[in-house]
Amino acid sequence: MSWRESSEAEERRRRVGVRPAPRLALDTPVTYLKGVGPARATHLARLGITVAGDLLRHIPHRYEDASTVTPIVQAAVGNDVTVLGKVIAKGVLPTRKGLRVFQAVVQDSTGMLELAWPGQPFLDRSINQGDWLLCSGPVRFFHGKRLQPREFVNLGPQEEGTAGGRVLAVYPSTEGLSVRLLRGLVEQHLDALLPLVEEPLSDAILREADVPALPDALRMVHRPESLAEAARGRARLAFEELLCVQLLQRRANQIAREARGGRAFVNRRELTSQLRAALPYTLTHAQVRAIREIVHDMESPRRMHRLLQGDVGAGKTVVAVFSALLAMENGSQVALMAPTELLAEQHARSVGQLLAPLGITPVLLTGRLGARERRAALSRLAEAGPVFAIGTHALVQEAVHFADLGLVIIDEQHRFGVEQRAQLGAKGEAPDVLLMSATPIPRSLALTLYGDLDVSVLDERPPGRQPVTTVLRSEAARAKVFEFANTQLDEGRQVYVVYPLIETSEKIDLKAATVMYEQLVAGPFSARRVALLHGKLPADERDDIMRRFRDGALDVLVATTVIEVGIDVGNATVMIIEHPERFGLSQLHQLRGRVGRGAAQSFCVLLGDVGAEAAERLGMFASTEDGFEIARADLRLRGMGDLFGAKQHGLPAFKVADLLRDEALNDTARRMADQILRNDPLLVGPDHAGLRHLLTVGYARALDLFRVG
Ligand code: ADP
Ligand code: MG
Repeated sequence: MSWRESSEAEERRRRVGVRPAPRLALDTPVTYLKGVGPARATHLARLGITVAGDLLRHIPHRYEDASTVTPIVQAAVGNDVTVLGKVIAKGVLPTRKGLRVFQAVVQDSTGMLELAWPGQPFLDRSINQGDWLLCSGPVRFFHGKRLQPREFVNLGPQEEGTAGGRVLAVYPSTEGLSVRLLRGLVEQHLDALLPLVEEPLSDAILREADVPALPDALRMVHRPESLAEAARGRARLAFEELLCVQLLQRRANQIAREARGGRAFVNRRELTSQLRAALPYTLTHAQVRAIREIVHDMESPRRMHRLLQGDVGAGKTVVAVFSALLAMENGSQVALMAPTELLAEQHARSVGQLLAPLGITPVLLTGRLGARERRAALSRLAEAGPVFAIGTHALVQEAVHFADLGLVIIDEQHRFGVEQRAQLGAKGEAPDVLLMSATPIPRSLALTLYGDLDVSVLDERPPGRQPVTTVLRSEAARAKVFEFANTQLDEGRQVYVVYPLIETSEKIDLKAATVMYEQLVAGPFSARRVALLHGKLPADERDDIMRRFRDGALDVLVATTVIEVGIDVGNATVMIIEHPERFGLSQLHQLRGRVGRGAAQSFCVLLGDVGAEAAERLGMFASTEDGFEIARADLRLRGMGDLFGAKQHGLPAFKVADLLRDEALNDTARRMADQILRNDPLLVGPDHAGLRHLLTVGYARALDLFRVG
């Protein structure tokens, strides 16, 4: 964000010969502000505040208000409270362990309370008798009631009680710059700065998004009448950010589409109708919708570049098969690439079953083929005429030639590099591309993350699937858990036991898994056929173990997290997960997806003694099988970057907006961005001048995306 004055205004002033009056402007350096010397200016710069206008854009990260303050007399032991009181005594005390504790006693009209900050004796310098403190934290019993502040704000000395009844902004601060000082600075200049702020958004946009104008919003976030008002102001600032990002992403998408020449398939409804008639089930609404979106893309002369997203078991394969048939009834060839041989084989088998009534057999191409089979497969692909090739990255090898590759489908797309995906695409002439992913990301988020892709989401499970019973069991129940697993094994079922393996502690983890494997083989599973599967095994050995498990030649698979995504063993009904607290929720969800694939009731047991926090997290996981809900919770807990490498996607960091909290706002922003770009793709209309300015000043990419001429 920049507050530099528009050059026209400058120009106008120069012409009229008026020298700018030495008054406050948005671009006045902070050093000119009263109360800011060189030292403070340095601290402010660390927060990104260099000119007066930056103060306005330094947004409180939270608020305290009287409605959240507990009268001291009611601050009960065991509760987490916010209190407001005047410091009547203070000092630094040593403890027996040598830790120095800053203590203060605060008082309000109802009583007194002791506050303690262990290890922070330096607070003695900044907190004085007579200061009013607003503190939040747990109340404990320690020779009497005592609050250990998690956060606090020093309001300074003031008239009795004035802090109460008011909403207080709490700003992100930095060392050497207290929240109080920042608040004072904003407060002091707010009235002078607000009238200088110009609205970048048109009335129409403001009205449709139902957000306040910028100057109002800034007043609301800095000096709100109520928490609700603060939220409304914040929403406006978040919306502005989201709209900018959506404009960039949607414009990038628009340009990419225009540039992508491709093929226009004709929806002949020959093979696809035959499949529909032969299907042993009815498609879900989500599948029908996704197929319609894909058909639409394939009919258009532009090149399809679509991501099909659906939770484990949502039924992506059949959607992919419909798109394949559409290409094939146009005489084209199709290639489906999967990340492992096992998955490729599995696809070949299930696609083969689906297409048997149509007399179509897919051609499998993996590294496991013998020389003769391989030659036969290669010559099939090189012949003209429709063919459905399914394989691993063996499909992109140099020796592979397609007569006319019209559609490329990539399963578990995140397992491939950009390079490999492009290589497969290059085997044909601008083939349509369908990417598939089982990572459930809410649609609006996916659209924001993958700007240049179109996205279809399967957000509905096929009916009749048995829910997996998920339970959390403590160490005390360990023997019982394995006893239960044995009863399932007695019924002819199969069992997974999963151990976490984290890169940073790989050696120790692998050792632990191996030790446990040996204990299981010697103990509860001594009568069973058990194998240990981990990532350090050679790939063919790993595949061999998975194959034996799939074919029922193994009863129990003890595995680190390498259990193949998407592998389908319908007879496996029990998954025991050790150290569940060490997994992310989405990872647990992927693992749990390995059971519950067949008709029988399945179970997922999270085994171990976990802390209260983890228990809550895992309890949430146990209560739902909705991958999108789980992904949301995971995102909230771990943050975007961690989960999706948001940086890799070129997603700008948001200052105010939060893609999860502001999902609805983001949807509105995307809708409006599409609408705006439809009518004025380069943002040259008079209504969009402010927006254009906002984008070009704030985002380097905008210069390219909205270049005129
Ligand atoms: P994923 O999205 O995880 O790749 P699959 O395509 O493997 O899921 O489908 C999972 C299972 O659900 C398969 O056994 C498939 O036959 C079945 N299935 C797919 N669509 C439906 C449907 N509409 N009704 C019933 N079963 C379905
Ligand atoms: Mg799949």
